[in-house]
Amino acid sequence: SAMRHLPYFCRGEVVKGFGRGSKELGIPTANFSEEVVESFPSDIPTGIYYGWACVGNGDVLKMVLSIGWNPFYKNIKKSVEAHIIHTFNDDFYGEILSIVVLGYIRSERNFGSLEALISAIQEDIEEAKRQLDLPEHLKFKEDNFFHLPEGKTVNR
Ligand code: ADP
Ligand code: MG
Repeated sequence: SAMRHLPYFCRGEVVKGFGRGSKELGIPTANFSEEVVESFPSDIPTGIYYGWACVGNGDVLKMVLSIGWNPFYKNIKKSVEAHIIHTFNDDFYGEILSIVVLGYIRSERNFGSLEALISAIQEDIEEAKRQLDLPEHLKFKEDNFFHLPEGKTVNR
């Protein structure tokens, strides 16, 4: 199950995704490189997760994370993408994204319409916000992992 891998700490560069139009839907997702994706436990279930995220040495913010099958690689490789629940003024490609993954929301699904997809993601975001306010999840916001010296990249 997903839980036995959590909490999962991960850090890596934000790379260009494969343009599924997440930004056009109002839900941009910061993609990790293939190398970082390969470092994830191979048996971690695909689906939607919640946790905390930090771009560079910025604030620690709520996020929803998608671990999915990567259509760019004909679904033989995974993709890991974080939607940070925050409005950024600029893109942050090339920056270091640090995350801690804390909980599982749901499995990957296909939706009948764009509207259904968007409303499911909005529900995921609301669920993530609620979960992350619980003391057992809130405490990770202050984890030392988010205050490591720059350049130190450990995945644990
Ligand atoms: P791509 O296919 O390149 O991943 P997206 O449409 O998913 O394109 O947009 C992702 C990019 O948007 C991120 O790499 C980041 O630079 C930027 N971005 C802006 N706001 C956010 C946010 N709240 N969460 C994640 N990424 C964001
Ligand atoms: Mg993306």
